[in-house]
Amino acid sequence: MRFSFALIGIFFCSLVHAQAERKINESRTYESLIAEYKALAKSYKQAKLIEIGKSDIGKPLQLFVIDSDGYFQAKKIDSSKVTILINNGIHPGESCGIDASVELAEQLLSDSRYAPILKQARILIIPVYNIGGMLNRNSFSRANQNGPKAYGFRGNAKNLDLNRDFIKADSKNAKSFNQFFVEWDPDVFVETHTTNGSDHTYTLTLISTQVDKLEPSLANFLKNDFEPELYQKMADHGQEITPYVYTLEGDPKKGIKAFLETPRYSTGYAALHHCLGFITEAHVFKPYEARVKQTNSFLELLILESVEQKEAIHKARKQAVKEIMAKDSIAVQWKLDSARYKRILFKGYEKVEKRSKLTGLPLGFYNHEESYTDSIRFYKYYQAATKIKVPDYYLVPQAYEKVIQRLAWNGVKYVRLNKDTSIEVSSERIIDYQSPKQPYEGHYLHSGIQTRSEKVKLNFYKGDLLVPSKQQKRAYLTHVLEPAAVDGFFAWNFFDGILQQKEWFSDYAFEPKAKKLLEENDSLRIAFEKAKQQKPSLANSNFEQLYFIYKRSPYYERSVNRFPIYKIYEKEAVR
Ligand SMILES: [Zn+2]
Repeated sequence: MRFSFALIGIFFCSLVHAQAERKINESRTYESLIAEYKALAKSYKQAKLIEIGKSDIGKPLQLFVIDSDGYFQAKKIDSSKVTILINNGIHPGESCGIDASVELAEQLLSDSRYAPILKQARILIIPVYNIGGMLNRNSFSRANQNGPKAYGFRGNAKNLDLNRDFIKADSKNAKSFNQFFVEWDPDVFVETHTTNGSDHTYTLTLISTQVDKLEPSLANFLKNDFEPELYQKMADHGQEITPYVYTLEGDPKKGIKAFLETPRYSTGYAALHHCLGFITEAHVFKPYEARVKQTNSFLELLILESVEQKEAIHKARKQAVKEIMAKDSIAVQWKLDSARYKRILFKGYEKVEKRSKLTGLPLGFYNHEESYTDSIRFYKYYQAATKIKVPDYYLVPQAYEKVIQRLAWNGVKYVRLNKDTSIEVSSERIIDYQSPKQPYEGHYLHSGIQTRSEKVKLNFYKGDLLVPSKQQKRAYLTHVLEPAAVDGFFAWNFFDGILQQKEWFSDYAFEPKAKKLLEENDSLRIAFEKAKQQKPSLANSNFEQLYFIYKRSPYYERSVNRFPIYKIYEKEAVR
């Protein structure tokens, strides 16, 4: 697809006055950044800087809105516009997007050639998302980065990496973002970063949200119609980009794979709302000015291309909701499809192993004197590793307030039970999971979660939530509420209370009861004898033997390891 109007003349037209105000190889401070956006809002009636919630550091999270109709509220009055959201400074040490975006905002507002674009696009820019991190300015925390002279820090005011926080929402920033994202409903989302890792010739690399997480119409549109234009047009203008260089074996020549940004990441979160997500990763070793310039160029192109294909974007997003409504099962875990790859032309540097002058040990170095252009394998696709059968309803006990808050922030619709009642439900028992020894982002994130379904009749109370799954937010709600989901609330420790047994027994007091149980129950006795033969430690331990019987007796509590979000499948009608 080609531009239907003379956009090419605009593309890369200039980096105008704003850049001149910033010194070479320097990034803006928080104060100068906000002052610059305020000045733009004052100068142009199509722009406004508004507050969209709180941040952990105490300063408001701000949004710069460019809307040609001067409409600066969430509700869209003109649905024919395409809404593009640009998020910057989630990692404030990676500041090129912060600078590129304010320079782009001035470019869009000051050059009348962009007027036809602004009539068709709503542009939302978060000047800086991790405000606390940006205020923690230093010159050392990005050891390998080629400028600027000073920049912010990755951790926020609570030392969280906010680009892992979109589901658990431990920060006020994430709470504000969840609510804002649902209210403003962007069609296209992009977040700006600077990469670490492998070396190559490209100034900018791109992560498109991993397509296999999207519904078919949106996935096909992204990979067949939208993404190819972004790569082609950047190349046409002499700023060739490549997919984010995520190596399989430490050397891009041996193949790269798509980055799976699960819902804890911004674009993975956006995908749950059927929004097209992108991450720019400017290359850490390239000069700062080149990184800012290419980030600016990509953001400009993304806006132009979104306008160019806006009808198709709107259509694919609407279709995606219909598609997920019609599905009985949904993937909540993915794994790399190692059998499928496409070949891409890659311009890299040869990697050679040399002896480190410091350690004396072999170390891989990239040789800048020896570049190559070669076809490499790009493993772009993932497969569903775990699929779940979506129930017609979830039942959420009111005890889980943090869960209910997050459902509400994300626009999930529910009703509350108006009386106490007993309902037969499907329940998931957690039968296996792993947790790390060290905390990860303030949690002991569970993985490898295995569950077993069982039917159980339970009491529910007035005020508990009944959540229909057939609703606009079906993707979000199934992902967060399913215990096996990679970034579900169970994985993020929202339900750890159920993982601990509450009542125990005294061996001497339980021994006569256990003996009686064995005498009265043939199958229990057979299982017990068999287990003793197979496991010497059982045969040699009073406690182990008594616990074996206790766990299989009516004395053992049923609630331990029982996941407390319950399901109703209407076909297996509840009576
Ligand atoms: Zn980053």
